Amino acid sequence: MTDINVLDNLTKVQKQIKEAELRGGRPPGSVKLLPVTKTVPQQYITQVMEAGIVDFGENRVQELVEKYRHFPKANWHMIGHLQTNKVKKLLGKTVLIHSLDRWSLAEKINSLSLSNNIKTKVLVQVNVSGEKSKYGLNPLELEDFIYHAIDLEGIEIQGLMTMAPFVDKPEEVRPVFRELARWRDKLASRWPGIRILSMGMTNDFTVAIEEGADIVRVGSAIFRRQTL
Ligand SMILES: *Cc1c(COP(=O)(O)O)cnc(C)c1O
Repeated sequence: MTDINVLDNLTKVQKQIKEAELRGGRPPGSVKLLPVTKTVPQQYITQVMEAGIVDFGENRVQELVEKYRHFPKANWHMIGHLQTNKVKKLLGKTVLIHSLDRWSLAEKINSLSLSNNIKTKVLVQVNVSGEKSKYGLNPLELEDFIYHAIDLEGIEIQGLMTMAPFVDKPEEVRPVFRELARWRDKLASRWPGIRILSMGMTNDFTVAIEEGADIVRVGSAIFRRQTL
């Protein structure tokens, strides 16, 4: 692991983000890079923080809570599937939950938030591709879900998140990102608070940016040994 140059990797990713912003006609600096730190040793997180990054993503509650303890000044984002019985541990430690994917979870986050006098920011996870292995709402359920969830005072829905299928050529998943953006636009015309698109990972983040991503969740490209 010692031969990973995290800062070089970070610089490369930041450059790719800039170029994708240009290609997509996005304002420079408008896309937030969310390094995903699952299984990543603390020393690398320290390096990335020293380079000015504040926001990080974790996909498991236990690991997020541990990292939060070590790096309380960072903004921790919960990006992975969230079990209802783990919400309590997570509450107050995350700036944004990207993975609200069912009504029972919305109710749980809401009730715990209300009893703690906080409002928890969330994104609704959408299974655009319809893959069985993926979590998230069917896009056709989205409007009805939000119609009800918008009344829950303990949560604030700020946007949508998706995971595209893993493919060899990222170009193949462009329609997935385009569809999520289309849903965001549609929902935002009714509920203006719904504005953030969390989409794009190591394999496909440049395409996601061209299609309107506001947050890209990138792990391997920063923290793994690069073959290039
Ligand atoms: C791991 C993970 C990522 C980052 O994946 P990479 O391919 O390593 O960039 C993004 N989103 C979620 C939900 C993840 O679990």
